[in-house]
Amino acid sequence: MNTDNGTSGRKRLVVLGGGESGVGAAILGLDKGWDVFLSDSGTIPQRYKEMLDAEHIQWEEGHHTEDRILAADEVVKSPGIPPTAPIVARLMAQGTPVISEIEFAGRYTTSKMVCITGSNGKTTTTLLIYHILRQAGLNVGLAGNVGRSLALQVSRQPHDVYVVELSSFQLENMYDFRANIAVLLNITPDHLDRYDHRMQNYINAKFRIIRNQTAEDAFIFWQDDPVIAAQLEQVTTEARMLPFAENREENTAAYIDAENRLVIDTPGSTLRMPRADLALNGLHNLYNSMAAGLSACLLDVRRDDIRRALSDFEGVEHRLEYVATIDGVRYINDSKATNVNSCWYALESMPSQGVVLILGGKDKGNDYTEIEPLVRQKVKAIVAMGKDNSKIMEFFEGKVPQLVSTGSLDDAIAACVSLSAEGDTVLLSPCCASFDLFRSYEDRGEQFKQRVNNLK
Ligand code: ADP
Repeated sequence: MNTDNGTSGRKRLVVLGGGESGVGAAILGLDKGWDVFLSDSGTIPQRYKEMLDAEHIQWEEGHHTEDRILAADEVVKSPGIPPTAPIVARLMAQGTPVISEIEFAGRYTTSKMVCITGSNGKTTTTLLIYHILRQAGLNVGLAGNVGRSLALQVSRQPHDVYVVELSSFQLENMYDFRANIAVLLNITPDHLDRYDHRMQNYINAKFRIIRNQTAEDAFIFWQDDPVIAAQLEQVTTEARMLPFAENREENTAAYIDAENRLVIDTPGSTLRMPRADLALNGLHNLYNSMAAGLSACLLDVRRDDIRRALSDFEGVEHRLEYVATIDGVRYINDSKATNVNSCWYALESMPSQGVVLILGGKDKGNDYTEIEPLVRQKVKAIVAMGKDNSKIMEFFEGKVPQLVSTGSLDDAIAACVSLSAEGDTVLLSPCCASFDLFRSYEDRGEQFKQRVNNLK
């Protein structure tokens, strides 16, 4: 451990959290002349320790040395640390600025920022935009929740354009950052435990994405989202508004026309392509493709390049990912569906009957009413998979032909095999976080795919 306390009159930057964003911020801080100290109350992964040591950046893990942290001129906080963490609360109480890595990085670059937020679809849309821009030959970086740290790229591997996935946690500590293109996909209840169970707090965090936008910037959003529409009655923005929707209304910038073509209208040009050519299926992915297409049009990417990239994108792991067909049953991994709304879209894109749905995990205050109509219509069996299935069992009792409770993935798969028949679809779209039985949603998806492939 390197905890040399010597400073040299430089401004003191403390970084809380030794993950991708924290280590990137520390390196950028160093490059810009700050005296940097990084502190993590947990364990810092080995590769990040090596990066810090290679730069001679001081760090600690397993605890926070309060005196040193409270003496900071400014603090960069990793998004995973809640504002209620005692050290953060103390910093805020004494008036020390606490900012996010994205905010910090934004100060040191004038590159174009395409920023994506929403309750669902962020990663898919971010990767889709990145794919289009890269295929078109732009010098583009991927940052935020996916990809490498924005700060690290700004400092060591600068790009002309960044595509940045922003969670509400990241947005919370952003103040002067300006998105040239802001995409707000949707707002449905999620993470309310972190927002005092007040939806408005969560909405406010999401809307920070348009803070500081000027008339030269663009705001792309889903026109039919009732929460976004209501909030837009309260806030004003100078940015050019580019709403997307399945059906065209006044001002809709991306929509489906009478010939079932995707139309993207931006000032000076119109792109049309058959909806059937889009690589990603499902209504939710139509929205994601619209948002991505609009962003690319605004960056003056050639229309042919956009059409091609929208039709050859390979999709993202754990999001409605086809796994295999075994004995005529299709298996789909949608492990990333950690809330009810994303499961709704998964069900929406399923065939009209014969779905065996695996639900369960760590409940974040779910209300299953939203998916009840689709479940009644399409689902022949629900297999609950979790440590505590009582809420699911109670809610769906009498609403599906078959309802089974299991406590492990092996038991869940065995139940799916016996409940499904040729032509059916087994869908893992659990509506819940994975932490009761798995390390992460990725772990849940990997294990699911492995077990399914073992059935072959
Ligand atoms: P995020 O990064 O916001 O969590 P992902 O792209 O990882 O979003 O997708 C998360 C889940 O939401 C997946 O189950 C996916 O199928 C579903 N989903 C993707 N796009 C949307 C959308 N626009 N609206 C609702 N659900 C979506």
